[in-house]
Amino acid sequence: MTDDRPTSFATRAIHAGQAPDAETGAVIPPVHFSSTYAQDGIGGLRAGYEYSRSGNPTRTALETQLAALEDGVRALSFASGLAAEDALLRASLRPGDEVLLGNDVYGGTYRLIARVLGPWGVKLRVVDFSDADAVAVAIAERAPRIVWIETPTNPLLRIVDIARVSRLAHDAGALVVVDNTFASPALQQPLRLGADVVVHSTTKYLGGHSDVVGGALVFADADLAEQPAFLQNAAGAVSGPLDAWLTTRGIKTLAVRMERHSANGQAVAEFLAPHAAVARVYYPGLASHPGHDIAAQQMSGFGGIVSLALADGAAARRFSESTRLFTLAESLGGVESLLNYPDAMTHASVRGTELAVPEEVVRLSVGIEGVDDLLQDLDDALAGL
Ligand SMILES: *Cc1c(COP(=O)(O)O)cnc(C)c1O
Repeated sequence: MTDDRPTSFATRAIHAGQAPDAETGAVIPPVHFSSTYAQDGIGGLRAGYEYSRSGNPTRTALETQLAALEDGVRALSFASGLAAEDALLRASLRPGDEVLLGNDVYGGTYRLIARVLGPWGVKLRVVDFSDADAVAVAIAERAPRIVWIETPTNPLLRIVDIARVSRLAHDAGALVVVDNTFASPALQQPLRLGADVVVHSTTKYLGGHSDVVGGALVFADADLAEQPAFLQNAAGAVSGPLDAWLTTRGIKTLAVRMERHSANGQAVAEFLAPHAAVARVYYPGLASHPGHDIAAQQMSGFGGIVSLALADGAAARRFSESTRLFTLAESLGGVESLLNYPDAMTHASVRGTELAVPEEVVRLSVGIEGVDDLLQDLDDALAGL
């Protein structure tokens, strides 16, 4: 299946699953809003579709596109990133199984495993994945069923060596999952580095316009997709046709958007790093970042998320409420710049846990606006501190 795919990422993003409509020639395939499909005699399905929870042509188009982006054999599209994670975890885990998790993963992932799956007997262990030796020790101590990698992490932009951690995990017989939401497949393709499954919140860079919530799983191996695909239908957290179509449209410009996000992110990080009011900048594109070398190897750009630490929590809160172009809002990955105060917003659910975010940290999702305007906005907000 992978052999006849165009080699250029940008070409795959635009054409995979997006052939013109066979009947009308419409260059953009129609959005199929139908919940059900006429049968030519009992069981006589015209194109394999019978009911839209089980399958819908617009969702199929998105799933084909997603598989091509990550160089996987199959993708499944869900109603949200967490719905995708839930399907994968429930398909892969049994009571008593353990998930080994980075100490800086998305708070909702931690909450799902600890508080939804925990009561069903799933265990959880947390280590610093940016320290591959610590991961090796943890795996040697006890083999987990799943090793869950997120890189760059949210919101501290730690970098995990995907190839190395995947080898360690596979040696212990574990399944390797990478949440690739922050980098997007335009900058990083974990399946090529040894991962088994990629998870996305397509709400972020893939959709790219802050107008749709969605999630996806992409598999390196068709067998691995069987159980999650069964759950996608059996539990039913599918994406609707309009959501699938909006995501497809967003993905077509992913390659150019990520180039600009990375360029603007780098400029913002370099502007903030020497600023007197800024205590620390977290961005893998800075040579001073501890994960810079690994990021440079496994990513083709450093992305648009930049976090910074101010003097203290009060300064971080004041700064968060004083930008004009950067909108104070949760989420990330859209064309417009957003600012998030993790401790009280996205990461409020992990306050007081081992995943808590320092109260002086602010996360920027640097958009693709004119970079001078963005720097001016940050400069003004810092001046007012
Ligand atoms: C947003 C996000 C998720 C969850 O996705 P939803 O679409 O909000 O359910 C998972 N992982 C990361 C890294 C995210 O940023």
